[in-house]
Amino acid sequence: MAIATNLGFPRIGPKRELKKAVEGFWAGRVGEGEMLETARRLRREAWAQQKEAGLQHIPSNDFSLYDQVLDALALCGGAPSRYGLGDGDVDLRTYFAMARGLQELGPDGSRKVDLPAMEMTKWFDTNYHYIVPEIEEGMQFRIASQKPFAEFEEASALGVQTRPVLIGPVSLLLLGKKVPPVVNRQPSLEALLPVYEEILGRLQAAGAQWVQMDEPCLVLDLPDDARATFQHAYERLAAAAPQLRLLVATYFGDLRDNLETALQLPVAGLHLDLMRGPAQFERALAEAPASLALSLGVVDGRNVWRTDLGATLDALEQAARRIGSERVLVAPSCSLLHVPYDLGPEKELDDELRSWLAFAGDKLDEVALLTRALNEGRDAVAGELEENARILQGRRESPRTHNDAVRSRMAAVTEEMKRRKSPYAVRKPLQDARLKLPAYPTTTIGSYPQTREVRRARADFKAGRSTREEYDRFLERETERTLRFQEDVGLDMLVHGEFERTDMVEYFGLKMKGFVATKNGWVQSYGTRCVRPPVLYGDVHRPEPMTVRWSRYAQSKTDRPVKGMLTGPVTILQWSFVRDDQPRADTCRQIALALRDEVTDLESAGMQAIQIDEPALREGLPLVRDDWKAYLEWAVGAFRLTACGVQDQTQIHTHMCYSEFNEIIEAVGAMDADVISIEASRSKMELLEAFRRYRYPNSIGPGVYDIHSPRVPSQAEMVDLLKRARDVIPADKLWVNPDCGLKTRAWPEVEAALRAMVAAAADLRNGK
Ligand code: GLN
Ligand code: ZN
Repeated sequence: MAIATNLGFPRIGPKRELKKAVEGFWAGRVGEGEMLETARRLRREAWAQQKEAGLQHIPSNDFSLYDQVLDALALCGGAPSRYGLGDGDVDLRTYFAMARGLQELGPDGSRKVDLPAMEMTKWFDTNYHYIVPEIEEGMQFRIASQKPFAEFEEASALGVQTRPVLIGPVSLLLLGKKVPPVVNRQPSLEALLPVYEEILGRLQAAGAQWVQMDEPCLVLDLPDDARATFQHAYERLAAAAPQLRLLVATYFGDLRDNLETALQLPVAGLHLDLMRGPAQFERALAEAPASLALSLGVVDGRNVWRTDLGATLDALEQAARRIGSERVLVAPSCSLLHVPYDLGPEKELDDELRSWLAFAGDKLDEVALLTRALNEGRDAVAGELEENARILQGRRESPRTHNDAVRSRMAAVTEEMKRRKSPYAVRKPLQDARLKLPAYPTTTIGSYPQTREVRRARADFKAGRSTREEYDRFLERETERTLRFQEDVGLDMLVHGEFERTDMVEYFGLKMKGFVATKNGWVQSYGTRCVRPPVLYGDVHRPEPMTVRWSRYAQSKTDRPVKGMLTGPVTILQWSFVRDDQPRADTCRQIALALRDEVTDLESAGMQAIQIDEPALREGLPLVRDDWKAYLEWAVGAFRLTACGVQDQTQIHTHMCYSEFNEIIEAVGAMDADVISIEASRSKMELLEAFRRYRYPNSIGPGVYDIHSPRVPSQAEMVDLLKRARDVIPADKLWVNPDCGLKTRAWPEVEAALRAMVAAAADLRNGK
């Protein structure tokens, strides 16, 4: 009999209860016990829901208070030495200090504790961010957290036998920082394996039958010796807990060259993502040794469309025929962490659209249904299959997904539309003469704190407790206050603050046709931060200007230049749930055309500088190098199509953050933005290495203020970062700015940090 399984479930809570509890805990409003109780309740409910749905392999330890990679580091005691982990377990204070930094002031205001956060970067090609392991030379590992054991016991006590999820040791090391001094991974692995052996031994003793070892790095390009490393590691682990059945889970791609390695690992099961890597299906069936079960990831864990059950069953039935149904595990393609909880609250979606969608809860049902059809025959679920076929046909034929005007505009795009009128060398003096900014101009990335008042005003308006008029007045006041603030702090290029936006993608999604917003479709982005990706289901166009009103208003209130502020086409694509019935490149081009109109409208409205954010450009990069060129071509093309409708003297900015850009720096150059602001402070300007190698042609602002931490950087620290930047970036092309937008921060920190930042820029101007 085939088994219905799951790899991981969302953990933020159906109503973001975890976010509220943890943030309340940080702020001192919620006690530790209460916060942990909320966490326990969410786990309990998730297990119950999965059991109810009919799943047989239900994950545990997929829960996290912040991030699963951070949990893995805590589990094996892999905290960098600066966090001063003693002999005991990683306590909450240390755990959150690693996640977000910790600053404690003494009675005299001096910094008693001043720990920066660990680095954070995007989890493969998702918009989820993980804490980057920092494996120090000679690091000693030991079990320093009881979490996987405690959660397994917790579920057992509730009558749920779970499959604990661990990040596999090889991926844990491979996900670590790849910076000098080069960490020799081999000794680290040897130090780590005994800890994993002990963990598995303890899980076996606790009664676990299966353990899921996530080794997503198997989908990446790996050096040859990495394959031997996997083999070696799993031989050790399999021997350490012979009664345990290990399931090595891969996801987000095809294993390609690594498939053979994975199939030969001495484990009980291998999970394959058949959404992202359908081609590996045939090979896996043909080559899997008879002892290996295959977990077939057939329900898309990365997108929200209803599964084509008939076609999926064809594949599953074939698998059952060829390897035997007892070796088939039916599964989502990856953890369901990346999709929202359930469609229940989406009352505002019309029935047709709603019927096309499947969120995490529905996906559990799909897995269970497929398993049932496989085990009992299609007749057992004939009604469900019929309904599914009818819905999918309806979606294919729906006129709502198609717009002729958009199609003909797409066909008329020319190469010339993707080129600025003159090269940067010609544009720069024109822009300098117009903007008259000092050397090392200071600016911010766009958003300012979204305080409780801002959120309340928005909620009031949405709930009909205030009028459009009142809400607009409120936003105008906030905008104007923020402009005064920026003038007072002494910033050179201002922003309007983005108070009208909940989210940089959702805002545009709501204003363009072809998208639909959800009410409660939250997914975790990092830590307690969640986003609500809009659903892009049809051809995209812009019925009217989307941002011009706010930019024009802001510019009318100050003499200093204000940047118009847009989210770029690749980021909108990347951070939406995108239709799966046409190539992403085409969808991206449709978005670009809509945004191009917005850019030229902003220019006509008098904006001298326009920023088009593309923080997700890097995360959209295919995981495998062979596919990079094609992606970068269409992605950079879409950005240029958006940006290049303007005159030479209009300054185009772009912004990127929280990824490694070093490898695609040439493509970033090819975007030909006049100025790019780019995250750099957490990694202490490692980014600049790229600029040593490649002379970036235009202007750059490497971030000097890490906005993901409440910690306020000192002026001296920022001067130091800027001086390092000046070694590789010509002084007349160096801008001074934070790493990213300030919306998640509180005003007092922002004020202190920006004053220090402006003072740091002044130091450079004054030759200090
Ligand atoms: N302009 C956006 C902001 O400041 C950029 C955010 C981002 O890069 N993620 O919020
Ligand atoms: Zn950013």
